[in-house]
Amino acid sequence: MQRTLSLLTPSGHLTLGNLLGALRPMAAAATAAPAGCFYGVADLHAMTTPHDPGRLRALTAETATLMLAAGLDDATVFVQSRVPAHAQLAYLLECTATTGELGRMIQFKQKAGDESTRAALFTYPALMAADILLYRPDQVPVGADQRQHVELTRDLALRFNRLYGPVFTVPELVLPTAGARVMRLDDPARKMGKSDADEAGVVLLLDPPDVVRRKVARAVTDSDTGPDAVRAAPDKPGVSNLLDVLAACGGSPEGLTTYGALKRAVTDAVVAELEPLQKRYAELAADPGHVASVLEAGAARCREVAGPVLAEAQSVMGLGPS
Ligand code: ATP
Ligand code: MG
Repeated sequence: MQRTLSLLTPSGHLTLGNLLGALRPMAAAATAAPAGCFYGVADLHAMTTPHDPGRLRALTAETATLMLAAGLDDATVFVQSRVPAHAQLAYLLECTATTGELGRMIQFKQKAGDESTRAALFTYPALMAADILLYRPDQVPVGADQRQHVELTRDLALRFNRLYGPVFTVPELVLPTAGARVMRLDDPARKMGKSDADEAGVVLLLDPPDVVRRKVARAVTDSDTGPDAVRAAPDKPGVSNLLDVLAACGGSPEGLTTYGALKRAVTDAVVAELEPLQKRYAELAADPGHVASVLEAGAARCREVAGPVLAEAQSVMGLGPS
């Protein structure tokens, strides 16, 4: 059976970008093939830079609950740290990787500061390789920013298999099915991101309607106010972004001739898109016992799948009885 794996790092509150670009396609895949979909909250990945424990716990719960609210509950939904095989295999892969190749990771070079940089920021690609290899997927759909890490995952799997024995499936790298790429409302040159410090141009999934309205009202548009001002064009990134969001949320640009009308239509479409999600979130958040049991069942399924892979890797590396 083809397996799909997707992890979301609880590095901030989930955004409209995460919904349209990630949660929605994930939900579609889970509906089509629930048994093959493994969706996790990557709490361990949120600790590679200075973090606040209380905030991490709250964001982990919020992210997992939003994933269930977004319709991923047909799939196996889990929290990474509840499946110890991830951290255990990461160590074995750190013993397979070299400091040279980890040091070449662009993200490390970009984010590393001085000597106070956490060691985990350096070793993080080994954990990401473990996240993938434990589930033996044939393919990993990956965006541009994670490409180099998946290439490394392939290199590590090939090297491990050659040195110790054929334990891992070497996953093929595939382009993700083109999802929407939502840009910041206040700066359409920048992608909307959940860990952006400034939330002014970022629509959060749990933003109430009046906050959505305010953020969309302040969206950057254009100085051109001609009769065909409301159209997508390369030199109109703000308007193009609003039109993309409108279409992705099921709205129509028909008859919209002013930026004001466009913004009202976008607000209505986004609010209508978020309303059922927020309602379901509120129901789930009111029943934390249920959410905990779904996540525990998810982690148990992951332990079943990942446990034997970890055990094989440990054994061929010379750990435990022969
Ligand atoms: P961060 O700021 O922490 O990088 P992020 O919002 O960029 O957060 P990621 O954890 O990097 O989110 O990615 C999670 C998923 O959401 C990925 O599948 C990514 O492609 C998707 N995604 C993130 N931002 C957007 C966006 N603005 N538009 C569409 N998809 C997005
Ligand atoms: Mg990102």
